[in-house]
Amino acid sequence: MKLKIHTQIGIAIVGGVVAGVLLGDNAVHIRFVGDIFIRLLKMIIVPLVVASMVTGVASIPNARSLGRIGLRTFLYYTATTLLAVGVGLVLVNILTPGLGVELPAEATFDSSAHKPPSAISVLNDIVPTNILQSMAADKMLAVIFFSLLFGAALGSAGDRAKPLADLFESFNAVMLRITDWIMRLAPFGVFALMASTIGQMGLEIIKPLAVYMATVAIGLAIHACVTLPVLLLIFRAYSPLEFVRHMFSAIATAFSTASSAATLPVTIECIEKKAGIPNRIAGFVLPLGATINMDGTALYEAVAAVFIAQAYGIEMTIPTQLIIMLTAALASIGAAAIPGAGLITLVIVLKAVNLPLEGIAMILAVDRILDMFRTAVNVWGDACGTAVIAKLENNNPIANTKS
Ligand code: ASP
Repeated sequence: MKLKIHTQIGIAIVGGVVAGVLLGDNAVHIRFVGDIFIRLLKMIIVPLVVASMVTGVASIPNARSLGRIGLRTFLYYTATTLLAVGVGLVLVNILTPGLGVELPAEATFDSSAHKPPSAISVLNDIVPTNILQSMAADKMLAVIFFSLLFGAALGSAGDRAKPLADLFESFNAVMLRITDWIMRLAPFGVFALMASTIGQMGLEIIKPLAVYMATVAIGLAIHACVTLPVLLLIFRAYSPLEFVRHMFSAIATAFSTASSAATLPVTIECIEKKAGIPNRIAGFVLPLGATINMDGTALYEAVAAVFIAQAYGIEMTIPTQLIIMLTAALASIGAAAIPGAGLITLVIVLKAVNLPLEGIAMILAVDRILDMFRTAVNVWGDACGTAVIAKLENNNPIANTKS
């Protein structure tokens, strides 16, 4: 009997953890298998996003519908990010993980080497001057902006553009086919990534930060297992259990790669092929979500900032925490969808409320493991958003709308 791909990936995660614990540092030797898996995924991100977005947007009937979908997507993503931060702030105030934590003896985090992007540069980066250059440099916002324009023009150009529209549809089908092939390698890639990450991570580093990590983990769990499923139910978008089963491969890939961008091909494949949400909605809502909607990252940044304040004995008033709420949401938008990006944009939050940047040195050691959890939540958040928007646009597969 052949196991389903998500069962294989599940086994790979557990097996990878066990292998990592057993092999320790030696697990690094199989890392290359995971790296090749990530490279394969990265290889198809840009062509897949272009193909998927152009065909998706071109099939949206008119500019008004496109505007409505865009507005709903923006409102939904903003609301869920703020909800996530809210949960994180409540938890960190109740559990106070920073009290009594040892401060770093000396600053080992060089913040000048990790400059987060400024708001202006993020805005500027949206509009490409040379789309080929943006594609080559993986500038996702620019690629999304161009694909959006291109798709909208293709959809409104009438019969003359029909051959090009057909071409893009074929292109999209071919890219999804390649994604499917790469997914067959996922169990091997996921196993290698898990084993080498766990193998390299000494369990001793976790101990002093256990309460901090638990605070982030509980917050992420509440957002992923309560807030988002409740939203799916409220909007009657999808049965949460059924949806998580469809999306499992994407969530597991996000967990092991710690990159929403690298996971995007898998997310697109799961949501269109398994969950049956049409490309018209997913093609636009998902790539945008992977790039700017990071519920897990926002929650983590808020908890980390207050944790640092607590460790340094700095009081956090309600207005200051409101600033943290807003800046954490903004910083998560600015974070690139790659491993460790959230730690870098945390600088934005700390600066906004005058917290010591050296505090980052305290949480550096456990960042990778939290990154895995927050990236999984980021991807799950994008998927739930896509299901909700599809439902609002009456585009969910009817068979799956039972709740
Ligand atoms: N690794 C995360 C992602 O790709 C971003 C972060 O570091 O929080 O979604």
